Amino acid sequence: MSSPAPPMAFREFERLSPNRDAAAHERLGALFHHSELGFAETVARMLDPESRVSYHCLIDLDGTRCALVPDAQVAWHAGVSRFLGRDRCNDFLLGVAFAGDTYRAPLSVQQIASALEWLEPRWAQFGWGIGRIADHRQVSPGRKRDLNPAEWDGLIGAIAAHFGRGAPRDRVSGLKSSPRSRRKNHPQFP
Ligand SMILES: [Zn+2]
Repeated sequence: MSSPAPPMAFREFERLSPNRDAAAHERLGALFHHSELGFAETVARMLDPESRVSYHCLIDLDGTRCALVPDAQVAWHAGVSRFLGRDRCNDFLLGVAFAGDTYRAPLSVQQIASALEWLEPRWAQFGWGIGRIADHRQVSPGRKRDLNPAEWDGLIGAIAAHFGRGAPRDRVSGLKSSPRSRRKNHPQFP
């Protein structure tokens, strides 16, 4: 059950990454990552056109968020990936990363709270449910390992506790793939 929206607890600032497609993003859900690198290093990498990688949002250990790609555009975070019967998650899942490596240190309380704050307006606007949230490990099995499964369990538990379960898990596969799905996959970051 969603409680009344509290005032924004965490700072958010924007640094627009050149690594994005102007094509309309479908915003069917969110895909979580960890960046392995620290916050500032990750932002720098996202701002480098030669890296050809980006997330929509990066969350620091203290909960500060950097918005890197507008929600309406496609960020380059997932690479070869499949979720609910569809390839190319970049087209339809927004990419959110936690700074750091979840195998070396757990997510901070502030990172999880900041992720909930980031999800809050989108959950309502786009009609998301718990089944529209995934991590990189799940959509690129055997190729990507973020998040640490224990940290994923903590995150998805916090999301379920905050929002309830919401929309069922079976809606994405029924939607037709966009013509963009024939494009080459972009490279991606953890
Ligand atoms: Zn990742």
